[in-house]
Amino acid sequence: MEPFFNLTLNELEHILGVCGKEKFRARQLFKWIYNKFVLDFELMTDIPKSLRKIFKEMFSFTFLNLESMERSKDGSTKFAFRTHDGYTVESVLMPEEDRTTLCVSTQIGCKMGCRFCVTGKIGFIRNLTTDEIVSQMMSVKKLTDTTITNVVFMGMGEPMDNVENVIKAIQIFGSPYGLNLSKRKITVSTSGLIDTLKTIPQNLCVIAISLNAADDEKRTYLMPINRIYPLETIVDFARSYRPDKRSRITFEYVIIGDINDSGKDAEKLADLLSGVKCKINIIPYNESKHISFKTPSDEKILNFQRILLKRGYTATIRKSKGQDVSAACGLLGSRYLEV
Ligand code: SAH
Ligand code: SF4
Repeated sequence: MEPFFNLTLNELEHILGVCGKEKFRARQLFKWIYNKFVLDFELMTDIPKSLRKIFKEMFSFTFLNLESMERSKDGSTKFAFRTHDGYTVESVLMPEEDRTTLCVSTQIGCKMGCRFCVTGKIGFIRNLTTDEIVSQMMSVKKLTDTTITNVVFMGMGEPMDNVENVIKAIQIFGSPYGLNLSKRKITVSTSGLIDTLKTIPQNLCVIAISLNAADDEKRTYLMPINRIYPLETIVDFARSYRPDKRSRITFEYVIIGDINDSGKDAEKLADLLSGVKCKINIIPYNESKHISFKTPSDEKILNFQRILLKRGYTATIRKSKGQDVSAACGLLGSRYLEV
């Protein structure tokens, strides 16, 4: 049996073609499954009965097993799912006034070893399959019956280190016959694996790069990957990134107490990004008992933002979500460090 959530529309069309079936059946299946969320082939009334029977034997739906579901005071929910081989994958659902965002994981652990990140501390265990990435979305939909309007690839793992599966999942989320999420509603966050970023179509999704420091020494200390892709390489990429007139690259800046939160750091960041069309998203550091870094004071964070705004940048402070259930940025995977 073929896991349905592993297949893009093109792949499904190909498989059906090989089996001698009409291509348009693929679009029908996508509509029933991703758009209408009907997973019982018997109910797919515009497909002939004999074919429904064949599809039932051909395809399976892998829903991840729910291990726990923790609701935060702020309304976000962290889901922990168990994979077939006994690992835990976490996803976070964040309802807001005008949207509902799902944060998905792309790997179990991560190779990048960023000093401030819980997932980085775990080390790398394995990539998630396309099926497991798409299944996070489908499992959350099944459990909550929510309409998810936005997806962010900001959970556990480095998306550009599992790029094939991430691209396939984006194509599935974006298919007009399926969930139909526009490219503006899908964001991939990366620590800056520029050579891989260059290989993905510029109009696939919104790109966010975790900068976190404005000089190489500090960035290498926080993010060892900076040795391979230093700031100059990242900024050069950002300058050349112009999928269309409206799109801008986002830079994420995790602001950490006494590490990268001074006025001087903000000025350096403004100098570094001079002339680059971008948005800056300041993320107050989420503390964890496994790492000794601290969240800066509100005053420091606001001062950092003020300097960037004064220098003409669009700079927002990301509201932290789900801190009380370890669902906030960088806290996913805490359970691996507790055993
Ligand atoms: N690997 C990708 C995506 C997952 S991390 C990346 O690094 O971009 C998602 C975001 O969480 C990144 O911007 C990362 O810098 C940030 N982050 C990691 N640990 C954090 C913490 N403890 N508090 C706040 N943000 C954190
Ligand atoms: Fe990996 Fe991103 Fe965490 Fe760095 S911040 S260790 S790249 S998940």
